[in-house]
Order: sequence, then structure tokens, then C-alpha cells
Amino acid sequence: MNSWTRRSFLVKTPTLTMATPALGIALGAGGADKPALLGGPKIRSEQFPSWPVSGELEEQALIETLRSGKWYRGNGEQTRKFEDAYRRLTGARHCLATANGTSALYVSLNALGIEPGDEVIVPPYTFIATINVVLRQHALPVFVDTNINTFQIDANKIEAAISPRTKAIMPVHLGGSACDLDAILSVSRKHGIPVIEDACQAHLAEWRDRKVGTYGKAGCFSFQASKNLNSGEGGAILTDDEELYERCYTFHNNGSGLKATGGNFAYSGTGDNRRMVEMEAALLLQQMTRLEEQSKRRTGNALYLTSLLKEIPGIVPAQMHDGCTRNAYHLYMLRYRRAEFGGLPRATFLKALAAEGIPASRGYSPLNKEPFLKAALESRSYQKLFPEDALKNWHARNECPANNQLCDEAVWFTQNMFLGRKSDMDQIADAMRKIKNHAGELMAV
Ligand SMILES: *Cc1c(COP(=O)(O)O)cnc(C)c1O
Repeated sequence: MNSWTRRSFLVKTPTLTMATPALGIALGAGGADKPALLGGPKIRSEQFPSWPVSGELEEQALIETLRSGKWYRGNGEQTRKFEDAYRRLTGARHCLATANGTSALYVSLNALGIEPGDEVIVPPYTFIATINVVLRQHALPVFVDTNINTFQIDANKIEAAISPRTKAIMPVHLGGSACDLDAILSVSRKHGIPVIEDACQAHLAEWRDRKVGTYGKAGCFSFQASKNLNSGEGGAILTDDEELYERCYTFHNNGSGLKATGGNFAYSGTGDNRRMVEMEAALLLQQMTRLEEQSKRRTGNALYLTSLLKEIPGIVPAQMHDGCTRNAYHLYMLRYRRAEFGGLPRATFLKALAAEGIPASRGYSPLNKEPFLKAALESRSYQKLFPEDALKNWHARNECPANNQLCDEAVWFTQNMFLGRKSDMDQIADAMRKIKNHAGELMAV
């Protein structure tokens, strides 16, 4: 029996009473329709599917690796096997496993020769690691505003952000959907600036029927615990460029390259240690056997939820760019338009949802406005590395009004919530309708 049938079999039968959509409107404020936040019954009392998912496959693989005594890639085979499997899954020519997704980005930047004093174009709507790796390089992150409809970088605004110092464009496939690769690659070609795809949330996602992470010079993935493919920590770089692959390998292995001759202590450059552990690779190889089925289930549920939410004015699910032929749904993202909920603040909406048994997050805050960025720009190293006007103009150059609005409106659901049944989706929509019907009373909370 595969894991999912076994899982669904083990999950408790839901309480059907609260799951009926019609119930919400029919009953008065004192009945079952009363929001849980105001003391009414919850729409949902069971947990959403838990994450991660593992079983005997993982147990056996971990025990075998443990007993082999070969715990690192220097003497084991797991990491190499995983790289080969992930390369074949994505269609990339080369794959290098790394300690984590941050390392994948960091190694790529170093292998591409991004140096102190350079600029890197990034989106403001992403996990902080995308920005941190640029700062660790003592390069200047230049933020390009977000497309409020898709939650992805607004590719049409990238060209205007390019300066003579721009040495890389680092777009993110946020939430597992794809950013506008056609437009991004066209700017990249026109200006000869390499693209590093941050695909850390986008395992199996596709652009025009080809896996994301295979379009840029390098594509970076994360296998951190929350991600759709996970080993607690872990990462990978994809590239079709053999020379770049070798530079990545060398850098991630303390400067000791694949082609090093002269024994263990021969170096072809400087570097760092960003290697994956054999246990992680062993775990990933087993997790990969579940990936496709989990992904299909997420997609089915997410599309169904979108069809339900379309009927609720004020709830606006993130759209996909035309070229996105497969969404990994690492996050299900939507905009909450409070005006259409009688002005009910997003924070109260989220509280009311949580009370109904539907956990949701407000997502990222605007990274371009983080105080630590101002501090970095004022630091001794940045003052030395960049012309005065570049630092002075940075704040005006990096305003992202659409992203500010998005950060005020966004609501997210996590990927594990889409691994269950269709009726789970009905409950999410039911909870939103119930909150909307009682927005006035909830205003007082
Ligand atoms: C998770 C993530 C990273 C970093 O990956 P780690 O494995 O946690 O280091 C980078 N970028 C994005 C967009 C991510 O979601």
C-alpha cells in the first residue's frame, strides 16, 4: 500500500455537521453559524495532515547509512546517488547537493564571481535568505517591485533597475509558482547578466513544461523541513554549464575540486564547506518516491479551493503567469481585501480563521524596508565599496509600493494543508464565508 492511501485510511472521519456550506447562512447569530471567535462552534476540529511524512522506507535507508559507517560524501554513495536522481528528475545536466538552500545560493553567487561592490537584483517578497546571501557577499541588493496579481517579481521592471554594477539577477519562484521567466531571461540575454533562479520553494514546478531551476545559469533548491521535498536541512544547485558545476563543487568543498590532482590536499581555489551529509541524501532518495503523488494531491486540492474562493468577493487567490505550466503549491497565497469584508482588519480575519480551526499566516513583511539593510548600507565595508551616490540613492531606487500593499493584504496556507481531502477545502471556504457574514460583529473583537 502506498503512503497516501495508508494515510487517508488512518485519518479520522470528519464531523459532517460543520462541513455543509449552506449551514453558514441559514442560522442566526446564536446558532451553529456563530463565528468560533465569538463563542460559536468551530468549522473544523481535526488537525490538517501533518508534515513531514515518513515510514519504513526512510527508517531502513537511515539505518543502512548509519551502519555503513560512511557518513559523508567523501566515502559514501548516497549524496552522489541523490544528485543523479535529482538531475534526472529535473532534466538538468548537473546537480550539486549542498548543506541547505542558503548554501546553494551562496555557492552559486561565489562560483559566478559575484564580488563585493557588485549589485544583485532581487524581489522584496521572499524568504530572507535570498537577501542575506547577497549581503554576505558584500554586494548590494537592488529590489524590484512585486506583481501584485502573481506575488512574483515584476519582470517588466527589472531592466530599469540595471546599473553598470549589476552582476546577477536572482528571481524567486515564490510559493512554488513560477516567476515570469520569458521576460527575465530576455533581459538577462540583452544585458549579458546571469540569472540565478531561487527555486527553493518550487520542487517539480514547471515553466512551459520544463522544470524551473533549469532555465538560469544556476537553479537553487532547499530541502529544509518545511519544503515540499525535505531532509530537515539540505539544498541543491542545478546547472547545464559543466565549468560552473565544477566551480560550484570546488567552492563547496573548501577549494578542493573534482579534477584536483596531487592528493587530498590539493586546491584549485578558495572555498567553504557546504557539503550535504550522507544521511540527508539517503532520506531525500526515499522522500523522492513520495514527491509526485504528494504534488498531484496538492494541485488537485489547490485548484478546487481556487474554484470555491472565486465565489467569495474580497478573496483573491494569486494568479499564475501564463508560462507556469505546473505550480508546486509550496504556499497557497491569496489577497484579503478588507474593504469587501466590511473593513474587518486582516489580523482579525486571521484570528477568526484560526478559531474556526483553519491556520493561516499573513506572510512576509517588506524586506526592502528592514532596518538591518539600512545598517548594512551605513557599515564601514559598504561605505568603502560603493560610491556615495549609489548608497544615497538606494532608498529612493528601492521603493516597492505594490509590494507594500501585498504585504498588507496577503494570507497564506501551508502546503501540508493540501495533502488531505477535498472536504478540507470546503471547510476553508466555509470558514471564510462565515467570517464574512459576521464581519460586522467581528469588528468589535
Ligand atoms: C527556504 C528558502 C531558502 C533557504 O533555504 P534553507 O534551506 O532554509 O537555507 C531560500 N530562498 C527561499 C525562497 C526559501 O524559501
